Amino acid sequence: MLTRRTVLKLAAVPFVVAAGPSIRAAAPHVVVIGAGAFGGWTALSLARRGARVTIVDAWGPGNMRASSGGETRVIRGSYGDRVMYTRMAARALQLWRAHERAWGRQLYFPTGALWMFGTDDSFAKASVKAMGAEGLPVERPAFDDARRRWPQINFEGISSLMFEKEAGYLLARQSCAQVLDQARALGAEYRMAAARPPSPKGPMDRLPLEGGGSIVADVFVFACGPWLGRLFPDVIGTRVRPTRQETFYFGPSAGDTRFNEGQLPVWVDYRDRLIYGIPGNAHRGFKIADDTPGPDFDPTNGERENSPAQMAVARAFLKVRFPALAEAPLLGGEVCQYENSPDSHFIVDRHPGSPNVWLAGGGSGHGFKMGPALGEMVADLVITDGTPDAQLRLARFDKR
Ligand SMILES: Cc1cc2nc3c(=O)[nH]c(=O)nc-3n(C[C@H](O)[C@H](O)[C@H](O)COP(=O)(O)OP(=O)(O)OC[C@H]3O[C@@H](n4cnc5c(N)ncnc54)[C@H](O)[C@@H]3O)c2cc1C
Repeated sequence: MLTRRTVLKLAAVPFVVAAGPSIRAAAPHVVVIGAGAFGGWTALSLARRGARVTIVDAWGPGNMRASSGGETRVIRGSYGDRVMYTRMAARALQLWRAHERAWGRQLYFPTGALWMFGTDDSFAKASVKAMGAEGLPVERPAFDDARRRWPQINFEGISSLMFEKEAGYLLARQSCAQVLDQARALGAEYRMAAARPPSPKGPMDRLPLEGGGSIVADVFVFACGPWLGRLFPDVIGTRVRPTRQETFYFGPSAGDTRFNEGQLPVWVDYRDRLIYGIPGNAHRGFKIADDTPGPDFDPTNGERENSPAQMAVARAFLKVRFPALAEAPLLGGEVCQYENSPDSHFIVDRHPGSPNVWLAGGGSGHGFKMGPALGEMVADLVITDGTPDAQLRLARFDKR
């Protein structure tokens, strides 16, 4: 566990992006389990603050089973009245940009995001207010203007619009690999290994591994995404529920660039259900996904083949909203899983039975963008022995 002296010493390390402090002999050893968006950025932030870090992942950063394992993820600041996340997204945006500059590599693509609403405009109104407070630019385009800017979109059934200028998309799996590389460059150690479910009662001194062996450390951060409930059946269990989510990539006609970035922003159709997409990028096709939580899914052994039912949803949607793509061929698909908490808030807390075990997860379909801000927050909590925001703590479930 961290002593008060090491806590204070590490807390005094200033935030820097370009180069972290070197690992010190007296630094606490923190094991981060999971190299997805949550674990990777937490490990990087801890390494930067001078902790000795070991990262353990069963299948690798941004692997094909992981929730962070897709090609792209949306970054946006609009969260309706959930202002904590607008604030977190604003910080994350700042950090994505700063890291891109420091690393000389583009991971964030600011296409903007066009939101389309039915008659219920309350999400837009609350988002505009919250984004204004965070200095995130947002417009409410008139339909004449929108039709001129995006003639590829049929606005049938849409009553109002919102355009977030700094929203866009992130390279998902590639970011995870980059973050791990950077953590290693700061001295973090990486091991491909699977943690065995621990059942800590009091301080934990070692992480048991599948196949034998263990890693002795001072602090343990479990950022195992959709697997968190399996590792902690008593404390997390079904509070992190993996659901099957599908994405589809359609191919516009040869030479047709209307559905690519530069001509089309990220878009979100938010009516009775939420369907969103990412314009063609890296020549991979036009992405479309239904955000509605699908059936329960086994992240380890679940087959990842797109379903006819979800394909029909995507096709029917294209026909109405993007008529020029109605007959576009399917180029490929991804099957991933959300790791839903009951209220779709993240979970960041100490294990109730063990003061040196931290849990970070419950991304609930919106966690990827937050990686840098979440990682910074978790690293600070670990280093300062802090207390998370009540909205993220496990105790919130006891009040239900
Ligand atoms: C289709 C889809 C679309 C999404 N769209 C968006 C979006 O547009 N914007 C957005 O912000 N978010 C989005 N999300 C959500 C976001 O991707 C997730 O919330 C986020 O990636 C979760 O990251 P994580 O690190 O918690 O989990 P993961 O990425 O799943 O990482 C967990 C890691 O833990 C490892 N692990 C598990 N068990 C063990 C073990 N026992 N031992 C060692 N390692 C272990 C795994 O191998 C994995 O690498 C989307 C998710 C999906 C599935």
